[in-house]
Formats: sequence, C-alpha cells, structure tokens
Amino acid sequence: MKTPQPKALVDWPKQKLSAANLVDGEWTGSSGPGRAIASPYNGELLGEIYCAAPSHVEACVVAADRAFQEWRGVPIKERTAALLRFRSLLERDIEGLAQSAARESGKLVSEGRAEILKGIEVLDFAASLQNSDVGGAIEVSRGVTCEYRREPIGVTVGITPFNFPAMVPMWMVPISLALGNAFILKPSEKVPFTAVLLGNLIVEAGFPKGVFSVLQGGREIAEALASHPLVKAVGFVGSSLAAKSVYGAASAHGKRALCLGGAKNHLVVVPDADPTLTVDGVVGSFTGCAGQRCMAGSVLVAVGSVEGLIRDIVGAAGRIELGREMGAIIDSAARDRLVQAIGRAEAGGCEILLDGRTARAPAGHEGGQWLGPTIIDNVPVGGEAACVELFGPVLSVVRVRDLDEALTLERRSAYGNALSIFTSSGAVARRVADCASAGMIGVNIGVPVPREPFSFGGTKDSKFGIGDITGWGGVELWSARKKITTKWAPQRDKNWMS
Ligand code: NAD
Repeated sequence: MKTPQPKALVDWPKQKLSAANLVDGEWTGSSGPGRAIASPYNGELLGEIYCAAPSHVEACVVAADRAFQEWRGVPIKERTAALLRFRSLLERDIEGLAQSAARESGKLVSEGRAEILKGIEVLDFAASLQNSDVGGAIEVSRGVTCEYRREPIGVTVGITPFNFPAMVPMWMVPISLALGNAFILKPSEKVPFTAVLLGNLIVEAGFPKGVFSVLQGGREIAEALASHPLVKAVGFVGSSLAAKSVYGAASAHGKRALCLGGAKNHLVVVPDADPTLTVDGVVGSFTGCAGQRCMAGSVLVAVGSVEGLIRDIVGAAGRIELGREMGAIIDSAARDRLVQAIGRAEAGGCEILLDGRTARAPAGHEGGQWLGPTIIDNVPVGGEAACVELFGPVLSVVRVRDLDEALTLERRSAYGNALSIFTSSGAVARRVADCASAGMIGVNIGVPVPREPFSFGGTKDSKFGIGDITGWGGVELWSARKKITTKWAPQRDKNWMS
C-alpha cells in the first residue's frame, strides 16, 4: 500500500510560471535569462521572472504617457465603469489570486484572500469618487466665481514590497486609474507572479493599452522610474532605507512621492486588559502573515504586572500549527536573519519564552522556510529586538513600570506605523491615543488597519512624504487641483476683492 502524500498547503501551478513585463498592452521580454523564483512553502521552483531592460523602461513610460493623453479625456464615469469590470474579475478570480499571493509570498491562502478583499475595498472607494469628488465653486466676489476641479497628473508609478503581492498594488492602482492617470507597477522581484495576474485582469477589463503596465525587476528599475522625466508621481512601499532613498530621488527630480517604510509596532498591555481580547489580539498581530507585515505588533510593552496575560499569550502562540495557522518566511536569507537576531537576544541575557527555531516544518514542506512563533522576554528598552524591525513572527517583551514609561518608549521609536493598547479603561485608551506618536492606533485591536475611506499611513521613518496612501490621501497624491477664477461682466468697483 502506498503511503499517502501530505496535502499541499497551496495549489501548485500545472506548469512553471513566467513573469514578464506588460508594456503598451503587450507582455514582453527581458534584459536576460529568466531568474528562478522558489516557493517559501517548500523551496520548489515556481517559475521565472524576466526583468525589464532599460529599453523596456523607456518604451513603457513613453507608451504610458501616450495612453494618459487619451485616458485623461475619458469621463470619470466611463473610467469607473472599467474599474468596476475589473472588480467583477477580481471577484471571479479571487481564489486563484489568493493562491498566487500565498504561493509566492509564503502566507496562508486565507491571508491571500483577505488581501484581495482589502484591495477591492480600495477599489470601491476609488469607484465612489465619480459621485463624491464633485469639485467646488463659490461666488468669491461680486460677479467673480472661484472653482476648483481635480485633474490627473500623468504617468504614475507604484513600487511595492513582497509581503502583499496584491493588496499593496491595489492600494494605489484603482485610485490613480479612476482619477485618469496611467499607472506603472514595479512589483517586488521576490513576488512577480500575482502582478501578472492583476495585469491580465486589467487588460481583460478593457482598459486601453498602456494605461496600466508592469515592469519586473529590482532596485535598478525602481530607480530608473523614480528619476524618469515623464513620471509625475511615485508611490513606494517597502523598507525604510529604500523608502527614504526613493523619496529623495523622486523629490530631487521634482516628482511627488509618498514612500511608506518599515515598522516596529508596540502592543501596550496594562493589568486591566480583557484576557480574551488581549491574547487573541496580540497573538494574531505578531503571527499573522508570519509577522511579515508592516502592521505586525513586534514589541509587547508590559505595563506593571501582567504575568497571567503573558503566560496565556505564550500558550496560545505555542499551539499555532505551521502551514495551517501561520505561513512561511519569504526566503532563507530572511529566516537566517531572524534566527541570528533571536540568538543575539538570547546571548545578551534575554529569556526565550517560546522558541520558534525548534518548530517543525509541516509534513512534506521540509524544504521551505519555516520559523515558529517566538517570544523573547526582558528585552532591554534600547535593545536590538526592541528597536530594529526584524520582520518575522518574533515578539519582544519589554517591561515598564507605568503608562508614562510605555508612552516614552513608543515616542522614542524611530518608526511610527501602529500602536495598540489593550485595556478595559476608556481613560487609559484615550490617553494613549492622544499621546502615542504612531499614525494608526488600535484599542483592543492588534492590527489597527483603518478601513476605507479612513486612510492608511504612519509617521516618522514609517512614511516619507505628506498624506496617506489610500482614501483621500491617495486622491491628493495622484491628482492636482486646478483653480479657475471667472468673471463675465465688467464691474464698477475696481477693487478685485470687492
Ligand atoms: P524592500 O525595501 O526590500 O523592497 C520593496 C521594493 O523596493 C521592491 O520592489 C524592491 O525591488 C524595491 N527596492 C529595494 N531597495 C531599493 C532601493 N534601494 N531603491 C529603490 N527601490 C528599492 O522591502 P521588502 O523586503 O520587499 O518588504 C518588506 C518591508 O516593507 C518591511 O520593512 C515592511 O515593514 C515594509 N512594508 C511597509 C508597509 C507600510 O505600509 N508601511 C507595507 C508593507 C511592507
């Protein structure tokens, strides 16, 4: 009798995948031979990425600019109709997209599904602009009217990270296209395949060719786009170092830029916190997407005596089944980096309450990059595990005496994406929301991602630029307001302010 094979945790493509460049509506070539992309789940070859050559960048931007000149003249209601066709296709293909995002980034399929749904939420906001963004006009003076109307700005670019292959592009694409821009997506070179699926759906939805493009590749493609004269605005999401660099380059070339960076999010737990809300919130926050999300809580700030809560958090995290309840780490370099950081904390005197280094890979997935949830206790306030973004399922417990100390610690962090407070006291929650420096605050919620139209964005090294990437912040990023002042009849009063 044959031994049953372990069930695969994601669907495998029937043939090897190929990620090319979408330039002027056609899928096209590469600067050289394809580069292998392995699955974080089991190390097997998923397919190949064909990175763009400098000539593709030039052709792509020129075609996008040409497409923009037509697209800007299409009434917003027609542009929105195309967007809504794209929405139907996203719903039709949600399972395939979720599988793709999971397969290449290592997350669970359920997490892949969630990121498509968040993308659709942003699309719904973008589609609502046709009815809500009606401009404005008032009579500012006798016989003189001031009017403003929103205009697209031209070729826009999105440079995106590995951890949300669908959602982060979808933070930008629908709003930019609805407003009448052309959009070029430069996905992470680690996850090139979901971008191809999105590109195919946009083509199928009937957007004119060149309005949406995909350029595959790494830093060099991002830099070429951020300095290209025809590119008018850049949205970036990734690590802080790269975010700062892209922000600097784009700004120096006179472009708008909004560049979201890394994070070190604090989960502040006080003694009166509700045990269920706290344990679920903390564990979900640091283990979701295997800690590889910019909203992951990574520092548990234990205020006073919260021993029972910490014990329950360790217990719940220790019961997580890899592969079914938590996904894999993106690649071996990232896993090694995490293992080394845990080792340094241990060597420095911290206590490892839960050690993910010893966790077993799911059966049949031994070639993948697996690391179990890890909890490190007594991390000093200025220690590496308390301050540096590790980007994995690692929770550092920092002990403080009171809320003042907790808030001081948070305000000193270089990052400012999210903070969550776990408490039963409205006064404590209010104080934390008032005093914390992070851009997104959760009260008894471990991953405080605002729903649209409340926009997404942090502060400090978690965001370079003004505004937010979704909601009305996104509208301002991808458009310009034109102001028109009109008079039709001469006036006796010569004062222009009359
Ligand atoms: P990364 O910075 O390595 O890469 C992100 C993108 O930038 C990729 O497309 C990459 O090709 C490109 N890139 C890398 N270095 C560059 C450089 N010097 N110049 C120009 N482009 C460059 O990030 P990653 O490892 O793919 O993603 C993880 C990081 O992204 C984490 O730091 C995480 O916190 C952050 N992130 C932030 C948010 C947010 O909303 N703030 C959301 C998701 C991820």
